[in-house]
Amino acid sequence: MHIFSCPYCGPRDETEFHFALESGKHRPEPAAAVSNVDWAHYLHFKRNPKGETSEVWLHLTCGEYFVMRRDTLSHDVHETRCLHGGRP
Ligand SMILES: [Zn+2]
Repeated sequence: MHIFSCPYCGPRDETEFHFALESGKHRPEPAAAVSNVDWAHYLHFKRNPKGETSEVWLHLTCGEYFVMRRDTLSHDVHETRCLHGGRP
């Protein structure tokens, strides 16, 4: 069991959280010019890096999205912060 720290609520059990998306991933634009392959890649593929990564997570209990910087090898969480970068 892991404990993640929501910037709004503090430490909580990992079962209260859901992965949302890679941090820094940009929606391809303009939509009318995006191929089906590029759109599918945007929706369904993620990098899955080995080591440090930055992701957006949802805390299901409070409904807030936030950034989590963590290590996929050690499972250490280095930082959680609000999407705008500061504290709530
Ligand atoms: Zn929360």
